[in-house]
Formats: sequence, C-alpha cells, structure tokens
Amino acid sequence: MQFIDLKSQYAALKPAIDAGIQRVLDHGQYIMGPEVAELEQRLAAFSGAGHCVTVASGTEALLISLMALGIGPGDEIITTPFTFAATAEVIVLLGAVPVFVDIEPDTCNIDATRIEARITPRTRAIMPVSLYGQVADMDAIQVVATRHGLPVIEDAAQSFGAAYRGHHSGALSTLGCTSFFPSKPLGCYGDGGAIFTSDEALARACREIRVHGQSQRYLHTRVGVGGRMDTLQCAVVLAKLGRFEWELGRRRALGARYHALLQAEPGVGLLAVRDDRDCVWAQYTVFVDERDRVQKALQARGIPTAVHYPRPLHLQPAYASLCCSDCCPASVRASQRVMSLPMSADLTEAQQDEVVAALREAVAAVATPEVA
Ligand SMILES: *Cc1c(COP(=O)(O)O)cnc(C)c1O
Repeated sequence: MQFIDLKSQYAALKPAIDAGIQRVLDHGQYIMGPEVAELEQRLAAFSGAGHCVTVASGTEALLISLMALGIGPGDEIITTPFTFAATAEVIVLLGAVPVFVDIEPDTCNIDATRIEARITPRTRAIMPVSLYGQVADMDAIQVVATRHGLPVIEDAAQSFGAAYRGHHSGALSTLGCTSFFPSKPLGCYGDGGAIFTSDEALARACREIRVHGQSQRYLHTRVGVGGRMDTLQCAVVLAKLGRFEWELGRRRALGARYHALLQAEPGVGLLAVRDDRDCVWAQYTVFVDERDRVQKALQARGIPTAVHYPRPLHLQPAYASLCCSDCCPASVRASQRVMSLPMSADLTEAQQDEVVAALREAVAAVATPEVA
C-alpha cells in the first residue's frame, strides 16, 4: 500500500495529462505560456478570490506574499510552531521574526484566542496555517487582525479545496498561499504554488515580484525573485482539475469513514473537525501514544505512516532562539503523538479497512507490556 497513491491518479487522468504536456511541447512556450494564465483564471474562479498568481512553490508563495506586504527586518509575524518549516523560514529569510502562538490541541491549528496577547507595536501580519486540510478559525483571527489593522496570510498549502463558513480556503484572508507539491490535495509533477488575493494592488505586486520585480521587461521597480511556475506544471494541474471536485468528495468521505471506524477505538485519538468547516485531509492524522512502536508494527504489516511533524519549530535548532522551550505545550504534545495514515482519493474502502484493522492490532499490542 502506498502512503499517497499518485499512480492510480495518473492512470485515471493519463489521456488528459499526456495531452496537456504534449500541447506545451508543441507550442514550446515553457515559461509563462498560455496554460499559466488559463490555470490562474480557473483557480481564481474556483477559490472565489479575485486574483490568482501562480508561483514556483508553496514556499515561494509565502515568501512573495510577505515581500508584497513589505515585510522586512525587525517586523514580527505571528504564526504557529506546529507546521512545516517553510512557514517560519520565509519570515526569517526577510529578516523578520516569527512569533509563535500555540495550537488548539484538538485541531492542531493556531489558537486564535492566544493571538492578541502576542501583538506588539512591531507586529506586521498574522500567518495561520490550515493544517491537515482544515481551515484555521479565520473569522476569529480576522476580528483580532481588523482591531489592530493587520493583514492575514493563510498558509493553505494543505487545505486547497477546503471550505470554511461557505467560503474556500485561500479566499479567506488578505493573501492565501497554496502548494502544488505532488502529494498535496491538488498537486503537479514537480514544484508549484499559487497566491490568492482580492486586493488588486497586492496581486500586481506579487506578479512583479515573481519575475524579479519587473513592471515591464527590464524595468525593475522593486526587488523580486525568480518565482514563476512553469507552463508544464500548470498543464498538469489543469488536467487534474478534471476530477478535482470528485477527489475532494472522496477525501471528505474517506476522512469521515476513518473517523467512524476509529471513533470508539481505545488508544486512538481523532482530530476534531469543527461544524462550520470541512477537512480535505491532506493528511489523515490521528493521535497515539507510543508512536514509534505503533509505526513499526504497522510497517511490519505493510502499512506506511508518516509524522507531520515530529518537532515543533520553536524546538528546532534553527528557530530555538525565538521562543522559550515551554512556550507552546500543546504543540509539543501534538508533535509527540501525531501519526498520519494512508490517504488519497484513490484509496479503496478495502485498503482503508486493512489500515484500520492493522492499527487496531498495533495499538492493542503496544498497550500490553512487552514480554522480556
Ligand atoms: C507543503 C507545505 C509548504 C511548502 O510548500 P512547497 O510547495 O513544498 O514549497 C508550506 N507550508 C505547509 C504547511 C506545507 O504543508
């Protein structure tokens, strides 16, 4: 069994993907070809944001968004330590300082009630992460942001397609950033990403920054980066849009089915999904004690698992100076207990039953003391 089954997805979409790639090879516009604008239009329409700017990766989307907001040395950005390193990395790269706020223990998303206490005169933005495919509490975050005149950047790398109070992830904040890394809910066959915004001036800034700050060819009105998404990758995402809604439906259904099957399982904690939103399960993640032993037992039965993430950022060597070691206890506890199970739109119910049966046995086995 594969942790994320991209082969079945390719088999289902092969004619559309192959034809899309062939079209690019035929017209030869590998950089900023027609597929780039077409994808941006399709994704803007899907998300409900006014503008979509494709970029080289999810990391680049975050970096360019911060640059478009003029973030620089000494600025403070409030974010969560329980995320992939890219979220904090781009802040530090610009000379700014990530200010870590702890998570809600049951959703693993930033605890909006703890944000206001961390705002200082140097705070310039709030950057929540919609972890595992469930949007953070964006309305509560927006209330605090509005009170302090701060922009909000959603790290939606894991949540593209998710809904929150009737709106789509990516279109819930000043800027929304997603990733098309192959294993994300909407992936390409390499690196790619996108920025969403309904602010015309910010969209223009992002477009300029992704091509070295050019407002016209060889007129560099600002400092930028080489941050374009290439035409071939846009063609792959366009082809994948063909069954994206179906895939989202499958992900939601498989997530609900995992939940139902594991609900009463002693020793397995489930992620909470709030009533006003859904989860597209970029990762189907549970909480277990004795995680190493559970993972090994599953591996012995051919069930791959992963940990997102084994160490919160404030305890990583590169970021440890930013926070006292006991400042985010819920993030530390989550990092010790989270474990992700196989999840993709093409996972079958039979495979899912196999995962659940193996997990049940593994958890029961580690709960009984080891015999010497
Ligand atoms: C994947 C991911 C990123 C980075 O995306 P890339 O496309 O790999 O650069 C950033 N933040 C989170 C939460 C992610 O999961």
